[in-house]
Amino acid sequence: MIVLVDMDDVMADTSEYLYETLMVRYPNVLEFKVPRKKFDIKDEYSFGNLLKVESVLYSLDFQSSIPPVKGSLDAVREIHKRGHDVVFCSTPHKYYETSVLQKYQWLENHLGKPFDRKLILTEDKTLIRGDLLIDDKPEINGLRFPSWEHILFATSYNFHVDSRRRLYHWLDWKNVLSEL
Ligand SMILES: [Mg+2]
Repeated sequence: MIVLVDMDDVMADTSEYLYETLMVRYPNVLEFKVPRKKFDIKDEYSFGNLLKVESVLYSLDFQSSIPPVKGSLDAVREIHKRGHDVVFCSTPHKYYETSVLQKYQWLENHLGKPFDRKLILTEDKTLIRGDLLIDDKPEINGLRFPSWEHILFATSYNFHVDSRRRLYHWLDWKNVLSEL
């Protein structure tokens, strides 16, 4: 099978690392102390706080410094070992200058070969063919009807979606994705 895997908040623990960094830099901002309810940060924060979030998220070394989600590295190695093709499928941030190179660096630093070139960057994941797409985004729309089944990687901002298979954490992937 071809297993497409999103990066932010599926492989890389982006939101958690973002909030840890924000708490240190802006300890008195209440909006940063509660779990996010919206996928898109511009829907979540007031304008002033959004600028603070963006100043961290789009800084030059942020993306490549994000720790992996617990169990993610072992899971993709094992899925690959079982004979499946793992391809990372990610959307570049608003400022691609601080996310394209860094996403490749992240894969090289944490996984190395044969995963470090298996990255597709696209704003429209429906254009990419595969059997499964593991992604935290609540709704994934685009130009095509998807060829893959969307497996929802659970986060605080996608609990309202109940129409998809849900992966609560990587430690449970063998039970949820029993076809692999
Ligand atoms: Mg994501």
